[in-house]
Amino acid sequence: LQQQVIQSQKMESVGRLAGGVAHDFNNMLSVISGFTELSLAKVDKQSSLHEYLSEVLSACKRSTNITRQLLAFASKQTVEPIALDLNHSIEAMLKMLGRLIGEDITLIWQPGEDIGTVKIDPTQVDQILANLCVNARDAIGGVGRVIIETGTATIDDAYCATHKGVVAGEYVTLSVSDNGSGMDDDTQRHLFEPFFTTKEEGKGTGLGLATVFGIIKQNNGFLTVYSEPGEGSTFKIYLPQHPYPVEPGQSEQHQSADVHG
Ligand code: ADP
Repeated sequence: LQQQVIQSQKMESVGRLAGGVAHDFNNMLSVISGFTELSLAKVDKQSSLHEYLSEVLSACKRSTNITRQLLAFASKQTVEPIALDLNHSIEAMLKMLGRLIGEDITLIWQPGEDIGTVKIDPTQVDQILANLCVNARDAIGGVGRVIIETGTATIDDAYCATHKGVVAGEYVTLSVSDNGSGMDDDTQRHLFEPFFTTKEEGKGTGLGLATVFGIIKQNNGFLTVYSEPGEGSTFKIYLPQHPYPVEPGQSEQHQSADVHG
């Protein structure tokens, strides 16, 4: 099986660029829609001009939605990381994930023991799981199985020496494996790039893995991909282990403990 650590600086700069462009574009759009609304108020409702201006306005609204999606993708939204037990978060999502992948695919859950805690926004965990499971489902396209597994890993200096950008330490791991189509080398090279998709028109946006990558970067983690055409794929995510154990309802205290500690 092939192993590949993803370090996509190109992807980050594209994300930043997209975010910046989306922001400026939004400002221009609000000018256009503002003046269009003023013009609309001045023309006869029965006239064709009124109809044309209404079309301009609705195109503006659609464009605003697109830029909003781009801004969200470029991680401009605020996140609230808390210390959490990844096993609990996954268990809370299992039912929904089962529905997402459908009845033909068996979902196998293999929680690691004593994996400790990670510090991440819970919504981001959901985003990671949903994106990876949808991709696994699409790669299977029929009957198959998806395994979600957690564990821990010690990353040492030797590993870091051969994997640029990875920091040594204790990590919590989350992997999603499927026995679907797998990926050829060319797909593996591009899969984290924004808007890269091999799915048919309307099925994929090409933003799923770029979003996953952005979230993992933001949380000082990294990920590896193992894939073999015809065999399947495994996406393995590494998130730094958080030093404080989490107890029910204690997340906020641990957060402040982190600040002072
Ligand atoms: P999208 O799902 O919208 O296509 P993604 O960024 O999530 O966008 O994925 C990009 C591409 O990576 C997919 O179109 C597909 O070719 C490939 N891919 C992602 N996950 C898998 C997987 N589990 N198995 C095979 N190919 C995959």
